[in-house]
Amino acid sequence: MKPSTTSRKGATLRICEIYASVQGEGLLTGTPSVFLRMSGCNLRCWFCDTPFASWSPEGDYLTLDEIVLQVVSHQLNHVVITGGEPFIHLGLAELCERLHQLGYHLTIETAGTIFLPVFCDLISISPKLSSSAPPPAQVSWHRNHHQRRERIDVVGKLIASHPYQLKFVVDNLGDALEVLEYLEKLGPHDGDRVLLMPQGTAVEQLQQQAEWLIPWCREHNLRFCERAHIHWFGSRRGT
Ligand code: SF4
Repeated sequence: MKPSTTSRKGATLRICEIYASVQGEGLLTGTPSVFLRMSGCNLRCWFCDTPFASWSPEGDYLTLDEIVLQVVSHQLNHVVITGGEPFIHLGLAELCERLHQLGYHLTIETAGTIFLPVFCDLISISPKLSSSAPPPAQVSWHRNHHQRRERIDVVGKLIASHPYQLKFVVDNLGDALEVLEYLEKLGPHDGDRVLLMPQGTAVEQLQQQAEWLIPWCREHNLRFCERAHIHWFGSRRGT
């Protein structure tokens, strides 16, 4: 996992992919957006749907100018900086500042384990529950993942510093109950900004999860959140 570097061409960031699509999750669902996926992650969720940005990170090192040129070429107003984990990149703040100066609405998607002071219009935090850990056979990543995944102090700072949404990926009832414990530990927060999403990368799987999760969310006054992009496009890279 190589962080951002400095070269003769200036600061560089490892970028996995930049593409235009439609936001399929959360409060901005349906918004045409440029997705800027940064490569590398400090966690290793077993269900990760972007292994090319975590387990086997891919991508070229691009300067800020090169990144901005690609973003501008898509001619959209919203940019979603995602990963991997954007906050492992020391150049994130400068990138956000450049895009903010150009007038973009910026969302940053993060697991909420690292704090850096950055500008964004929406911080989209997806804290990882205990069941997200990779199998024990992956000895060092299993240990690292458990040690790193829950940073309630970081999430508290992020939600105090930005407009936010909290998105939890829920695979079973145990996960849903763990969300309630997490919110209790987190302290004051806006319940309208807490979203529970079903785990799954296939439409049938999401529909099965929704059958129990929607009534469970209603019973606990929490919001169910569809992973609409899978319904629209399938689980395909670049969507
Ligand atoms: S935090 Fe996100 S990018 Fe990193 S391993 Fe987990 S799901 Fe994948």
